[in-house]
Amino acid sequence: MITGKPLFTAEQIQSRVKELAKDISDYYKKKDLLAVGILKGAFMFFSDIVRQIEIPLTVDFIIATSYIKTQTTGDVKVFYDIRGDVSDKHILLIEDIVDTGVTLNHIRERVLTRNPKSLRICAFLDKRERRIVDVPLDYIGYTIPNEFVVGYGLDYDNKYRNLPYISIFKKKI
Ligand code: 5GP
Repeated sequence: MITGKPLFTAEQIQSRVKELAKDISDYYKKKDLLAVGILKGAFMFFSDIVRQIEIPLTVDFIIATSYIKTQTTGDVKVFYDIRGDVSDKHILLIEDIVDTGVTLNHIRERVLTRNPKSLRICAFLDKRERRIVDVPLDYIGYTIPNEFVVGYGLDYDNKYRNLPYISIFKKKI
């Protein structure tokens, strides 16, 4: 169940997204940007942030999973990957949350084998204290404590993704 007040309200989220989009627009000016959303979790963050980025860009997605309910399996499966040649693209991976770093590290290494011009990462939430694999994050929305969160694209058992805010989730006991 969802506990207490939202950790981040819809208004807080939208204002942080705008700030991140401004930094991204400044950095990628005159660069051929390919924004890659990591699904499913990042679908809402991705669609919000690309609408705030003020430079031309193309989009693609990676569908990957390593979680069952609230536990990582450590075994990352990719169901859909970026299409075509990316050797002339500056790729920005857009992720919902980084926890142990296992999923993102796997995806990062996989994308690097495609030889993009550059690769940067934007994660909305960073659960830094849980990190096992050190993945470089270039843009971070918020650093959060070690709690399981839902909403704004993040699920528990595929539910709660549609909430416009982010809340802490506790299993009923
Ligand atoms: P990692 O491989 O970094 O441990 O996990 C990354 C993935 O686990 C995220 O993309 C997300 O799908 C899921 N995840 C990690 N922490 C949370 C959390 O607090 N809430 C939700 N809903 N998913 C999480």
